[in-house]
Amino acid sequence: MDNLREKYEVVIGLEVHAQLKTKSKIFAPDSTEFGNEQNTQISPITLGMPGVLPVLNKECVNMGILLGLALNCEIPNRCKFDRKQYFYPDLPKGYQISQYDEPICINGWIDVKGKRIGITRAHLEEDAGKLVHVGSAGINGSLYSLVDLNRAGTPLLEIVSEPDMRSSEEARAYMEELRNIVRYLGVCDGNLEEGSMRCDANISIMPKGSTKFGTRAEIKNINSFSALQRAVEYEIDRQIEIVEEGGEVVQETRLWDDNLKETRSMRGKEDAHDYRYFPEPDLMPLEISREWVEDIRKNMPELPEAKRQRYMSLGLSEYDARIIVDQMPLALFFDEVLRLGANPKAAVNFIMGEISAYLKENKVEINETKLTPENLAELIAMIEKGTISNNIGKQILVEDMITNGEKASAIVERKGLSQISDEGAIKAIVEKVVNSHPAEIEAYRNGKTNLLGFFVGQVMKETKGRANPKTVNELVKEILG
Ligand code: ADP
Ligand code: MG
Repeated sequence: MDNLREKYEVVIGLEVHAQLKTKSKIFAPDSTEFGNEQNTQISPITLGMPGVLPVLNKECVNMGILLGLALNCEIPNRCKFDRKQYFYPDLPKGYQISQYDEPICINGWIDVKGKRIGITRAHLEEDAGKLVHVGSAGINGSLYSLVDLNRAGTPLLEIVSEPDMRSSEEARAYMEELRNIVRYLGVCDGNLEEGSMRCDANISIMPKGSTKFGTRAEIKNINSFSALQRAVEYEIDRQIEIVEEGGEVVQETRLWDDNLKETRSMRGKEDAHDYRYFPEPDLMPLEISREWVEDIRKNMPELPEAKRQRYMSLGLSEYDARIIVDQMPLALFFDEVLRLGANPKAAVNFIMGEISAYLKENKVEINETKLTPENLAELIAMIEKGTISNNIGKQILVEDMITNGEKASAIVERKGLSQISDEGAIKAIVEKVVNSHPAEIEAYRNGKTNLLGFFVGQVMKETKGRANPKTVNELVKEILG
């Protein structure tokens, strides 16, 4: 397959649904809270009972504008809502209120690892309910299906990209950057596994050098970044095989099965006219004043790309900056440590080293540990002042500070760990230690100079790591002559 790959260019466009973190639904006052008893957040509006009217939740519009600005979109003066008709048991009204030809955001872009990816549009819409298939093997094999409408009417922002991506790696990087953006904006949890962010991948292939795009397949049911990459890879190979055998790719919707690691056909692709879109008669077109947009722009938090650039200007490598920004709680923690005046290099060394290792091992986020930015900043200051050595610092960080939240100064006091910098005191210990190893002294003086490390190590052991290593080194050399 690999050499066949070289004959084709891959074209990918993503449609990403982000569930907006509002308290209530987009057109109804029901709570959007997740995980409650089924069918308890279903007002007559959500159920689409006769005579009810939708009322637009302003918070959804605020979040839509905020995200649009972060995606460098234009926010037109006017947008409107439309009905998209289809019939499915999870859609109580028989139509979804969405935005068709006048969305809230248009013509944007984001830069992903140095490449600009166009954003065609982003529009507001309501989510459907959830079907639970009971029985054995999926929809067809199940005995019956249950409907939970708690999710119906939850606000979504659908972000449609231009077909600008050319590999599964680019598609994944774009999706990861979008996830970071929605998280830093606070408009969506960005959790693919839990479905608060969902992604449909449109994929086509064309001969290298061609400018005419091939027919695309749309892949649904992707619920992790690695699944996105796997699904795209699988689909590329599937399409190449079809074309190589003289066949044609058909436009259709396919489902990714992450257990079988394959896509399978779900339905032929609907065209827009299948949905019989028309303007939602129960909602006025929405006028968005420039003041409204500017008010929201003023509250824009720092975006992931700007954060990475700032970290790099503090001396972090691009790699470290990426790793930290990709984990929002860690980045917010780091920012706070910096705000408290800590040395950035020292903070990064702890964060990328001992702290990240601890988080990984215990599968927790930094804000789920007892370590506070204040305590880390204090620890770093104590090391810089020479009160404790770096090694002692690492030790108490892992053994005490992360697990029990104790302050560095309190631990050092309790355990008597402050560094011995007094030369006279260190000298006495060095003499004692060196003189208790006569055989090694002789070997050293006969040219085995790498025994220096042995003596230094013995002194450090004797002082439980509290002696200033530089002073120890100098004194050992001096005594051994
Ligand atoms: P639909 O509702 O039919 O899915 P949208 O306009 O919502 O249409 O989304 C179409 C998506 O498919 C966009 O992300 C677009 O970039 C992408 N796309 C369009 N043509 C192609 C193609 N030939 N190959 C790959 N992706 C494509
Ligand atoms: Mg679509």
